[in-house]
Amino acid sequence: MTVPSSSPLPRIVILATGGTIAGAADARSKGGYNAGAVPAETLMAAVPGATEIAGIAFETVAAIGSQDITDAVWHALAHRIAVLAAREDVDAILVTHGTDTMEETAYFLHLTLSTQKPVVMVGAMRPSTALSGDGPANLRAGLMVAAHPDSRGRGILVVLNDTIHGARDVTKTSTTQVETFQSPNLGPLGYVTANGVAFLRAPGARAALQLPPAPLPRVSILYAHAGMDALLVEAAIAAGARGVVLAGVGDGNAARPVLEALAEAARSGVAVVRASRCPLGPVLRNIEVSDDAAGFVAAGLHSPAKARVLLQVLLASGITAPDAIQAAFDRTE
Ligand code: ASP
Repeated sequence: MTVPSSSPLPRIVILATGGTIAGAADARSKGGYNAGAVPAETLMAAVPGATEIAGIAFETVAAIGSQDITDAVWHALAHRIAVLAAREDVDAILVTHGTDTMEETAYFLHLTLSTQKPVVMVGAMRPSTALSGDGPANLRAGLMVAAHPDSRGRGILVVLNDTIHGARDVTKTSTTQVETFQSPNLGPLGYVTANGVAFLRAPGARAALQLPPAPLPRVSILYAHAGMDALLVEAAIAAGARGVVLAGVGDGNAARPVLEALAEAARSGVAVVRASRCPLGPVLRNIEVSDDAAGFVAAGLHSPAKARVLLQVLLASGITAPDAIQAAFDRTE
């Protein structure tokens, strides 16, 4: 990998992982396409003025749809970003990624990387061959954010639809629309405008955790619903889950048999985190559920998917006691 060194512009390495942004299909079809089929160099060729924003180098880490992302890919990506970020001839890193699980990869990197250099993730909702594909505009906006000095020290940033999101808050909200990424509780960190890059607020704190060894421990998410029984809790424990995240109803709640089975699991050393299937609002301790008595952790503003990533990293780092897990959740609020 050689970043053009004669350039006075910021030097940015693009790490491709696949996704719809690199998807190819007949432009007239609305149907299937091959995620990750188009190399990042080809995508960037469709971005007007890219070489006036940055000196750019390309690498491929994976070429998959993000529904198939594994913790092995997370580790490969985190290692590569850490190595690149330590180089004096690299100013920022831009990651292209599918949108389905971008929020989870972003949060894993946010928790485990400590670089102050900008690390920006972009994706697209329409394949590169679609009429009015959103990939080129998102790549351009991502490059602008990665190249901007105000992007330093903000952890992992997610940029789509001219909007800059923080890794802890961002979530995909629409199956199909280009404005799918939102930060429901706190709003975006900033915008990309005709005048450049504008930040509105600081991101959530980083956890200062090391990159833990792979593979990450099994942590299951259980989606609560009316009439739920303990079957899925028992199945998760029987499958060897070291942690369970409840995507609870309301304030991280669930039917009595579920809470009892979870308390039993907590007593046997399984980490139990209560999050909510509601898109807005925090899950706080000891309001409707007695966390102190049951040994549960309250997820605060972490969605179930984010709570799972944080819990996996904590358990893999040897942080297993409910008090210590709760402290880490509180620290990353
Ligand atoms: N399934 C695709 C992915 O996440 C969707 C996308 O990229 O928008 O890779």
